[in-house]
Amino acid sequence: MDQLTVGIFGLTGCAGDQLTLLNCEDELLAIAGKVRMKSFKMASTTEVGGEIEVAFVEGSVCQPRDLALLREVRGRAHNLVALGTCACFGGVAAMDQRLDPEILKEKVYGTEGDLFAIQRARPLSTYVDVDFMLPGCPVEKEQLLETISCLLKGSFPEIPTTPVCADCRIRENVCLVIEKEQVCCGALTRGGCKARCPSLDVPCLGCRGPVEDAYYRAEMEFLAARGVTREVVRKEMLLFSTPAGMGERLEKEFD
Ligand code: SF4
Ligand code: SF4
Repeated sequence: MDQLTVGIFGLTGCAGDQLTLLNCEDELLAIAGKVRMKSFKMASTTEVGGEIEVAFVEGSVCQPRDLALLREVRGRAHNLVALGTCACFGGVAAMDQRLDPEILKEKVYGTEGDLFAIQRARPLSTYVDVDFMLPGCPVEKEQLLETISCLLKGSFPEIPTTPVCADCRIRENVCLVIEKEQVCCGALTRGGCKARCPSLDVPCLGCRGPVEDAYYRAEMEFLAARGVTREVVRKEMLLFSTPAGMGERLEKEFD
């Protein structure tokens, strides 16, 4: 495919994934030659309607206007890519699925919250079909470029299915759990970030969402033997991926 028609759309989120694309300074000219951008509000006020081959959608659905935009984009796009952890798994906005969203709004915005409507934060897949998920908070630049490159060839890339611990081993890091008795969620988290945080001596908080085939029981037993309770792990892992069923997975193993 010589040119791909693309739209970049933002729902509720920090816009960090859109910024990752703009931060590809060395590659932007090459991308611009291959992509016909129909919508990218962060970069341009130009909006072109009609069909698009690929829509990248960032953020989670937290407001009725997010849902309206998502449905409109889904109706126009041949392929819809969930861009970033909020879009894939709900992200931090979706961390508590029990509290009434109206109470949360009142706590954060006070009376100014009356100016806008909200709803319980959810990932894109709650409402529409998602063709490809690219997690990360924000997404890794190399994986975003690889995704665009594969889409130009009419396919999707393979993204890592191994945990962050695998990245950590490749980088020959000292394990923060074994060597430093810290709480690190790398074994339960989808890798592909080159163990960014443990490489800087900071435990993994699970920002790339759950790894699909983690052996939860073994990991929890491993952590429990080092004095880490299930509640502590649960709290950390629910920061980014509550709607992805992290709580249920941990409960299932231990009830
Ligand atoms: S530091 Fe964390 S990510 Fe690295 S090996 Fe240990 S548990 Fe896994
Ligand atoms: S190490 Fe964990 S928290 Fe840090 S970037 Fe990777 S997945 Fe996210």
